[in-house]
Amino acid sequence: MKISVAIDGPAGAGKSTIAKLVGKKYNLMYINTGAMYRAVGLKAKENNLSPEKVDEICSMISNMEMHFENDDLILNGENIQERITTPEISSIVSNYASIPEVRSRLVKLQQDMSNKFDVVMDGRDIGTVVLKDAKFKFYVTASPEERASRRFKELQERNIECSYDQILKDIIDRDYIDSNRATDPLRKADDAIEIDTTNLNIDGVVNIITEYIRKGL
Ligand code: C5P
Repeated sequence: MKISVAIDGPAGAGKSTIAKLVGKKYNLMYINTGAMYRAVGLKAKENNLSPEKVDEICSMISNMEMHFENDDLILNGENIQERITTPEISSIVSNYASIPEVRSRLVKLQQDMSNKFDVVMDGRDIGTVVLKDAKFKFYVTASPEERASRRFKELQERNIECSYDQILKDIIDRDYIDSNRATDPLRKADDAIEIDTTNLNIDGVVNIITEYIRKGL
């Protein structure tokens, strides 16, 4: 039986760590859709393309071959995972992710991947758009302060200079843009199970999710 697991939620809710562990448990390919939007942001920045340059951004995307290896995003043969997970890319990515033409192209790539493999996918529109028919849908949240403090810790461990206040502001701004854009905004799918992780550790969340999947299989 084909398995698809959708995990949505706001920035820094722990989706990717959770999705990787769920993927290992059920032998699913982990597709980090945020990484794909980040790759568009990175390349647009390198090519000096502001979000208004929709035609140029679309032709740039046509030349972007993206796939995942060991959970990292490989763009045209290069592992760009470190380069896309910086505060600078976080601060610009939502402006590119709001462009309908960018979304339709990336949604198509994501759906092609899910047609080929059993996947666990995380993002903002997975349960509502990309994997509308997924049997397992989760919506993972936490308070903005908790999400900012997790992200701050992670960046500090990677020796990336940042301030907690700036990260909190970025998270609140991104939540606003992602939830209020016209095309496929962040929202919980009606049939998704909501998990507030503010007072849960990662293992606790993974246990809740794997238990739902085990019962559903
Ligand atoms: O998940 P992550 O925080 O890495 O996502 C980065 C950004 O990419 C989000 O803030 C959002 O603007 C965009 N995104 C999206 N739809 C997705 C995944 C990410 O719009 N499915």
